[in-house]
Amino acid sequence: NRDLAHQSIAVIGYGITGRACVRFLLSQEAKVCVLDRDINIQAKVDEELIDEKNVSAAVFEPSMSLSEFSIVVVSPGVNPHQPCFQQYRQQGGTLIGDIELFAWFNKTPLIGITGSNGKTTVTDMLGKVLTHAGLQVELAGNYGKCAIDLLLEEASRVKPLDIVVLELSSYQLEMTESLRLEFATILNITEDHLDRHGSFDAYKLAKQRIFSMSKNIIACRDEVLSYPESHVGNNTVNSDQETRQKTKRICAEVGLKSTDTGYSISKDQKTSEPFVQFNGVSLFMLSDLQLKGAHNYINAMIVLAICDQLMLDRKLTIEAICAYQGLPHRFQTIHASNKIDGDKVSNISWINDSKATNVGACQAALACFKNSDDYLVLIAGGDAKGVDLLPLKELIDTQVKHLIVLGKDAQKFIQLVPKAIRVRDLQQAVSTAISLLQKADYENAVVLLSPACASLDMFSNYQERGDVFVNAVKEQVA
Ligand code: ADP
Repeated sequence: NRDLAHQSIAVIGYGITGRACVRFLLSQEAKVCVLDRDINIQAKVDEELIDEKNVSAAVFEPSMSLSEFSIVVVSPGVNPHQPCFQQYRQQGGTLIGDIELFAWFNKTPLIGITGSNGKTTVTDMLGKVLTHAGLQVELAGNYGKCAIDLLLEEASRVKPLDIVVLELSSYQLEMTESLRLEFATILNITEDHLDRHGSFDAYKLAKQRIFSMSKNIIACRDEVLSYPESHVGNNTVNSDQETRQKTKRICAEVGLKSTDTGYSISKDQKTSEPFVQFNGVSLFMLSDLQLKGAHNYINAMIVLAICDQLMLDRKLTIEAICAYQGLPHRFQTIHASNKIDGDKVSNISWINDSKATNVGACQAALACFKNSDDYLVLIAGGDAKGVDLLPLKELIDTQVKHLIVLGKDAQKFIQLVPKAIRVRDLQQAVSTAISLLQKADYENAVVLLSPACASLDMFSNYQERGDVFVNAVKEQVA
């Protein structure tokens, strides 16, 4: 624990995280100055913290001097590469994020989950499985509670926590140094948030910071970047000591391809059904999982591997993994209908994957249809955040029958796939999909909203985009 009493500390950004940091710092008797670009910040802080003598507020300016503060805490939504922060660091100032502040005071064992896609699914599933095993668990960080709130709640907690699962974004990892995790995983790294990190390398480095913070690593054989940098691929070990050290920390590996060691997917010798296996032994049938899609098989194996490392009762673990239903807006089937025409039955499934806000997530969704004959209609588009869409081209060309595009970067999709159909909004996307399917011949059709883009050009967030899609399907599909 650090002694923060009487220290002069700035908190940049007064959103959910900033507010929690301010309350915690005040509880430590620090003198806190809130800086936010909101011109009414002073009135807001005065009103909310009316009896607090140790708090002040001012409007944040990117060029302001921060030298009067002994510590500056930056909220995850604030870009730490602005001139005032660079100058403060150069002057030897302590610039940290909320997770670093949490790490200074946390006493509960931690598991850290990061990656470009799948963080929330894995964090949420792990939380449910650990709870099913009877542990006292909280989910925090980028999902669940703000980590600082866990510190604020400590005094009033009836039962102490056994474990905290932290979902960590690249923004949070970038500003963290002292975190100590029992287990950590990077699920995958694909291009995202280049607007904030500047380059893919910077984004990758921010994520891989998690390796130096964890005692044990759970890696994914199909994702080179889920291994520490110098450990290239599976079982290829450089000779230097640091690499050996890093490799030793890889306590479990998961992957889609059949292997004799670690977690994998293989056809059971007796039944020929695909099973999740460990060291070649079948544990449960893939079809027992409620979650669908290869990316979710990886997510489930990561959760299984962590729970095995914690020596939990495997029967309970498998029970809870198989019962896990997933979260809304993530590859979620929202409607399925069938049509009987004489002796011909045809099915249409509508899938809401609005949380696919980057190319990697859309690739994962399309990969689910690789070996199927489904007649696939993809609805995509929005704000591509400056990322190259080219990695989608082959999957679209080979698997998608019709591409419907909308939003700010619709044109980028049309450059990629000239026959893409541009629509005004999601209502029109749904009606276009319906009329395309009326003319088509298929047994199973799927209409997939997996935008590969952020939603902010047309919606307040991905949830609103998903809800609009769900309502349009409800209204238009009889
Ligand atoms: P995050 O919290 O990292 O954004 P989510 O669990 O919210 O991850 O899922 C975001 C998107 O990524 C969804 O479209 C989901 O279907 C997809 N996804 C989930 N797990 C994976 C994975 N392991 N690899 C690739 N995509 C994934």
